[in-house]
Amino acid sequence: MRTVIRNGRVVTAVDDYNADILIEDGKIALIGKEIDVKADKQIDAKGRLVIPGGIDPHTHMDLPFGGTSSSDDFETGTRAAAFGGTTTIIDFAVQYKGQSLSQAIDVWFKKAEGKASIDYGFHLICTDLPDDRLPEMKEMIRQGVTSFKLFMAYPGVFLVDDATIYKAMGMASEAGGLICMHAENGVVIDAIVKRAVADGKTAPKYHALTRPTKAEAEGVHRAIALADMAHAPVYIVHLSCSDALDEVVRARDAGLPTYAETCPQYLFLDYSVYEKPGFEGAKWVMTPPIREKWNQDELWRGLKFNDLQVVSTDHCPFCFKEQKELGKNDFSKIPNGGPGVEHRMSLIYNGGVAEGRISLNRFVEVTSTAQAKIFGLFPRKGTIAIGSDADIVIFDPDEEMTISAKNHHMNVDYSCYEGWRVKGVTKTVLSRGDVVIEDGKYVAKPGRGQFLKRGLFNSPR
Ligand SMILES: [Zn+2]
Repeated sequence: MRTVIRNGRVVTAVDDYNADILIEDGKIALIGKEIDVKADKQIDAKGRLVIPGGIDPHTHMDLPFGGTSSSDDFETGTRAAAFGGTTTIIDFAVQYKGQSLSQAIDVWFKKAEGKASIDYGFHLICTDLPDDRLPEMKEMIRQGVTSFKLFMAYPGVFLVDDATIYKAMGMASEAGGLICMHAENGVVIDAIVKRAVADGKTAPKYHALTRPTKAEAEGVHRAIALADMAHAPVYIVHLSCSDALDEVVRARDAGLPTYAETCPQYLFLDYSVYEKPGFEGAKWVMTPPIREKWNQDELWRGLKFNDLQVVSTDHCPFCFKEQKELGKNDFSKIPNGGPGVEHRMSLIYNGGVAEGRISLNRFVEVTSTAQAKIFGLFPRKGTIAIGSDADIVIFDPDEEMTISAKNHHMNVDYSCYEGWRVKGVTKTVLSRGDVVIEDGKYVAKPGRGQFLKRGLFNSPR
């Protein structure tokens, strides 16, 4: 099967030129001017950007949380991702207490099997790591699950202590793996939350008011210090605020292998979402919470200057009706998380490139290339080059769209950006050469997505 994409403007993290692309057997076979070749399928990309498929390294499909499960499974979630120009997700599998790591990952293999429309990898959240289980991390790494997430938050559920974090960092690093940290002082946050609830402060806004930016900054500082002591790299997930970013900047300036991602919700939304009437604010109850508006400029600055390397979504949707309502009378019972996997590319193009905050190359880098490098997928994913998987998005930089729960494809009854008008629309999406989205229509079959055995961590910039 041969496909040619003609007349497009090919943009990667470093390139920008007009060319045709020949795809053969799912891989990019040739890039050139007016390629003279017969193909089974021709796609005209005139006037459009031809960019590497987006990589969202932070999603939670079908995740049990707070007495319910995130409302997108691997079928609905990966299809929505594809609509938005994301061709790879790295989802978080969870090890529950008492489980071996391989028992844990097997559950997630089954969740994804036969359902995904795009390729997927897994990080493994570890919650139970006594010394005799630590070596199992090496076996996971051999199987291509080369990153692990540890929590400083959610005591009693996910939290592991500092000694465990230190030991896991050392073990992962030795074997070529990477630790992702949910960095927040969850023990102190828990005390603040308990006092608020006891004082009758139960509205959704107290989710934000009980999670100070200092609790996140302290977690980030501690994660970096533990990684330094363990001679290990560390990747901070969903960094939300200037206080936490300061810690990352300091570490990177000192030459430490510290990496961090942020998410669209922290770049575009602010605390005022929690002041909406009634229970409305529950839609944005996620962790960390949405911060005061002035943090946004600092995060954009971090992205621009590579103190932040990645934009992920932390996609973890719960329906407003019935799921978010579990916390109607107590914010601490609202399932934490929100939908986002579908609109990351358009939001970052619009707010980043169209509004002049970052370059087009940097847009590609933060939505695809950097995560491919950090998580062992480059150059198979994350770029447009000979031999790379033909994961390609044909993107119209001029078309506008309105984000709404009425037209989105995520299995959730609200949007965090309802009614937002954005410039930059995903038109056609190829995954390993297969057209998955064609002119805005889903044309693939669930189950074609493959598990990605990822490579070892290899210290990118
Ligand atoms: Zn998450």
